[in-house]
Amino acid sequence: MYTQLNPKTKEKDFFGVFGSVIITLLLPTVVLFLYLCCNETYVIDGISIDFNKINEIVQDELIDNWKSLLLNFDCWLFYLCWFFGLVLFDLIMPGKTIHGVELRDGSKLEYLINGWQLSLLFVSLIIGRLFYVGDFNLPELRFLTDNYLSLAVTSFEFSILLSIFVYICSFIPLRDVNGLKTNERILAIGGNSGNLFFDWFIGRELNPRIKSWDIKLFCELRPGLLLWFLLNLSNLQKQYLELGYVTNSLVLVNLLQAFYIFDGVLNEEGCLTMMDITTDGFGFMLAFGDLTWLPFTYCLQSRYLSFKNYELSLIQSCLIVSIMIIGYYIFNSSNKQKSLFKKGKLPNLKSIQTESGSKLLIEGWWGLSQHINYFGDILIALSWCLPTGFNTPLTYFYIIYFTCLLLHRQTRDEDKCKKKYGKYWKEYQRLVPYKIVPYIY
Ligand code: NDP
Repeated sequence: MYTQLNPKTKEKDFFGVFGSVIITLLLPTVVLFLYLCCNETYVIDGISIDFNKINEIVQDELIDNWKSLLLNFDCWLFYLCWFFGLVLFDLIMPGKTIHGVELRDGSKLEYLINGWQLSLLFVSLIIGRLFYVGDFNLPELRFLTDNYLSLAVTSFEFSILLSIFVYICSFIPLRDVNGLKTNERILAIGGNSGNLFFDWFIGRELNPRIKSWDIKLFCELRPGLLLWFLLNLSNLQKQYLELGYVTNSLVLVNLLQAFYIFDGVLNEEGCLTMMDITTDGFGFMLAFGDLTWLPFTYCLQSRYLSFKNYELSLIQSCLIVSIMIIGYYIFNSSNKQKSLFKKGKLPNLKSIQTESGSKLLIEGWWGLSQHINYFGDILIALSWCLPTGFNTPLTYFYIIYFTCLLLHRQTRDEDKCKKKYGKYWKEYQRLVPYKIVPYIY
């Protein structure tokens, strides 16, 4: 398909430089906005925002406190220990080595898969700490609650530095050939435009690595996801310390999201065929998305519930759990089906043979819609928002944003598949006309 190893990017995604500047400025502002609407001093109710209260918080916490917000020693220490502690565990924990998808030079990268081992250690450490402290009052979790905004700012600054680091490294030829058939780094098809800002934003190198340690896979599955889990837990602890008990809505959000988080951490192999790993470069967008956006916006529901003390009825709880189970079933079994099919393990399912050598599945989950897995993910998102009730649309931010993300992702993937599969993709679209939700869209 490509005659050169690293062709120049012709079409810039996300509306090019203009779009990338807007996103770089807008997304951190959204993280801040969500904090301003949901914090110790003010929690949004209904649809109108109390701008007087927000102004007070801006004055107290941002303007008067800007120095310690931008450079908070304790938060930096915490964040560096957190990030590099996980790096250390990632490197030393045993696991199995597997190969990723074939790269443009015909090689395949090796990945150490040790999510199970890391999860066991991580959960054991938390349980051990709980026994040691003897009460649900861990100082580490209190630190997260007390320094929420500074930590979000620190992780944002860290993601800027990390993306500058990988951008600079992308220009240095590989010394250790590391299983690759070339010493030229493989760049992302979308990240080699030559525009410094755009390439830094979208990610220039496809799989930035230090020796065999893969920065992109690590950031996707470890520091952000597990910090989200800890932030949720810190909200639970905060409520317990304040009320002496925890509400069932907050417990439910914690459980549902913890299930998803550990499912992600444990499903490393599945992640290797995801668009983020196979196609996207690693730049500011993914670094910020993984390290700041994901933990600090995805914990909004649990944050809100830690302030609101809202109880669910049994019927409501059962309904929410059912939506999560159905969503997870669709999400998990469709992703699994595609993965098994790609490995040649489901030869009986109907498919279209393409010239590229790959086959496009047209039966089973993938005969229902082109991205049935996204539909499952949207149902899961809904089940996380519903426990917050219907007091404010703010707690539905996640499902709205996530649906937009998946709609955009679908168009990006369609562009990729049109180029890769040509007339076969057209035939696939004719046979499977719905994009995400069967019989609707
Ligand atoms: P998909 O898993 O849908 O993968 C798309 C790729 O699969 C295509 O590029 C094509 O690749 C292949 N493919 C598409 N249709 C077929 C078919 N009919 N038969 C065989 N192969 C096909 O997309 P993503 O990587 O975007 O998403 C993976 C999962 O991650 C999803 O479940 C998504 O919901 C989830 N996700 C979650 C996020 C979160 O924040 N929680 C964020 C983003 C994604 P090829 O070139 O190999 O043929």
